[in-house]
Amino acid sequence: MINMKYAEIILDIKNKNVDKVFHYVIPYHIKEKIKIGMRAFVPFGQGNYIREGYIIGFVDNTDIDISLIKEIKSLPDDYALFDENMIYIAKFMKEKYYCTLSETLQCIMPKIMKEKIDKYININYKLENIEQIVKEIILKNNVQSKVLSLLKKSDNLTVNEITKLLGISKSPINTLEKNGILTITEKVINKNDINLDLYKKTDKLVLNEDQQKAYNFINFKIEQNSDKPILLYGVTGSGKTEVYIRIIEDILKKGKQAIFLVPEISLTPQTVERVVGRFGNRVSVTHSKLSDAERFSQWQRAKNGKIDVIVGARSAIFTPFKNLGVIVIDEEHESTYKSETTPKYDVREVAKQLCKINKCHLILGSATPSVETYFEVNNGNYDLVTMANRVNNSMLDIKIVDMREEIENGNRSIFSKELFYSIKNNLEKKEQTILFLNRRGHSNFISCRKCGYVMECENCNISYTYHLSDNRVICHYCGSTKNIPNICPSCQSKYIKYFGIGTQKVEEQLKKYFQNAKILRMDADTVRKKNTHKNILEKFKNQEADILIGTQMIAKGLDFPNVSLVGVISADILLNIGDYKSSEKTFQLIMQVSGRAGRAEKKGKVLIQTYTPEHYSIQFVKENNYLDFYEKEIKERRENDYPPFCNIFFIMISGEEEEKVLRNIKFLSNVMEHYNKRTKFFISEPVKAYIYKLNKQYRYKIMLKAKDEVRLKNFVMYCVDILKEKMDTKNQHIILSLNPNNIQ
Ligand code: ADP
Ligand code: ZN
Ligand code: ZN
Repeated sequence: MINMKYAEIILDIKNKNVDKVFHYVIPYHIKEKIKIGMRAFVPFGQGNYIREGYIIGFVDNTDIDISLIKEIKSLPDDYALFDENMIYIAKFMKEKYYCTLSETLQCIMPKIMKEKIDKYININYKLENIEQIVKEIILKNNVQSKVLSLLKKSDNLTVNEITKLLGISKSPINTLEKNGILTITEKVINKNDINLDLYKKTDKLVLNEDQQKAYNFINFKIEQNSDKPILLYGVTGSGKTEVYIRIIEDILKKGKQAIFLVPEISLTPQTVERVVGRFGNRVSVTHSKLSDAERFSQWQRAKNGKIDVIVGARSAIFTPFKNLGVIVIDEEHESTYKSETTPKYDVREVAKQLCKINKCHLILGSATPSVETYFEVNNGNYDLVTMANRVNNSMLDIKIVDMREEIENGNRSIFSKELFYSIKNNLEKKEQTILFLNRRGHSNFISCRKCGYVMECENCNISYTYHLSDNRVICHYCGSTKNIPNICPSCQSKYIKYFGIGTQKVEEQLKKYFQNAKILRMDADTVRKKNTHKNILEKFKNQEADILIGTQMIAKGLDFPNVSLVGVISADILLNIGDYKSSEKTFQLIMQVSGRAGRAEKKGKVLIQTYTPEHYSIQFVKENNYLDFYEKEIKERRENDYPPFCNIFFIMISGEEEEKVLRNIKFLSNVMEHYNKRTKFFISEPVKAYIYKLNKQYRYKIMLKAKDEVRLKNFVMYCVDILKEKMDTKNQHIILSLNPNNIQ
């Protein structure tokens, strides 16, 4: 029973001006029921239109003129969608990621499921002589026959599906029903629980020495109630999963719950299988293929204490457990842990906040920790535990292949001699091969095939990006542009051109050279169909194919014992994506993909083809040396003033009318220059975005750099407010992002 007079309500309206707390009188008859976190219907504005809002608190006093305060109309649900802890998280996210409280609340809570009723049609087989009647109608009547033919093929369609599929009205269906030939039944769409039968039970493993040490360390920290996050740095194949599982088991024994995050469910099926297989019906998996209804049901099961472990990608962090004990973030360096849509949250930051308010523990695991995370370790803010050996104790044999020499020797194919013969050899031995190529849609850069020279911006030390439409290169940080030279400025050869081969090309070439090889390809094009990730990986696991070609989709967590060769077709495509993180991303990806080889008895061989073998991110992969890579990379970041030593802020304006977008971005740029006299932030010229036109929208951006995140943010918000006040920003999107994953 709430005795206070007013409820504090956030309205579900996407408008910064409405992004504040409104007070509403709580009518007596709902005082019994009303709770923080519930939805409320309230009158709003002059017309008193009924709007949806969320209750975030109660007060007895208010500064607002009491005669203006309206009354809550009704409460649609019996339950709360979030609690006070989640309100804290929502407020944290609002401040940190520049969005409204209603946006962060919506990100946190499940989509409400209103029950949906559909009308299903079946042929009335109970009717006497029905087969005969149907046959006759199919021969006689044209439209009705279409309906019946379809139903004979697939019974149990809905009325809507049939009219859509056949492009007809409802009347033939009604006629058939009237004559008793069809039956129509109403059904509530199922809100069934998640099916867990798919996962086999997995057995406990006996921890090896490294694992035991790591487990003991983490356990000790937990018993000590340490509030520092722990980094489990364990090389690929060192058996991190089993350590996480043991820690989670202990947490469950204390009556607490656990969240286990993976970068993407479909790309890490084996890790998910192991975790889920161990916890049986106390665990649930959340993934993008779940319907809203299934998700809602899962949310309720967590809230009602029916499950103790959730396995999922980023958004699983918002699972409403009552007594959270541990959060595990596997492959913590993965970019998918940062959301690319509003609110653009970094789940590692949200997890830290959750741990703070729930007094629970955060474990980050990786074979290639992110530079930011390792920086925290070095600063003493995180604890570190290391597993330096693979479970099978075998070392990877990693070799760099200099593709410039191949050209010198007249080999223009995409396979070096050594890779070619290694594939051939593997085919003969009936062992499996993984070929990796990370062809991102726009990763075109200008490079010399003879000497490996890459065109870089002198201001930013970052490779230029080739823009086909302008036939020029542009730096995506400072916006400087250049013509493309006809001859290489470094070696004067004419082999300078833009780079771009894709996985499809690799497949074609493989088929040409190895006609009998069975090949699977996994990239965005081949996995569009439902479940095909799983199908492809399943086939490869069952050794129905000799070679798997893929993009970064195949880099994570896969554990196939018969894979003894990994080939990286071109490491350079990653290095030159015009992003300050490209060395880090290259190192991580190649290390991860290399780690797919030789995971069981067979020894693993890795061949990395590159035009820049001297680059440190490639050299340190060869040495299998994360720590030295980190030292070098952090030095580069310090010298060039990139995160974690400063913050980078992108402001993007987009809209269908290019002129209007340009006017706005230029205005904003002037405002910023004007107010920057004292603050002295680095501010770039307004330039075309990396993807300049998307969905008919023209996109322009400004980049800012500064040490102080809060001051930078306040400055940006202030200038953006002036833009909105003075200019026409209707139908224009203004997107702000701090230290984003990818160049914008
Ligand atoms: P990582 O995540 O560190 O790359 P995994 O957790 O996938 O490594 O483990 C690598 C392989 O070693 C898996 O096939 C796993 O089943 C196996 N493994 C892990 N721990 C043990 C153990 N203690 N005894 C036997 N096999 C193990
Ligand atoms: Zn530049
Ligand atoms: Zn050259």
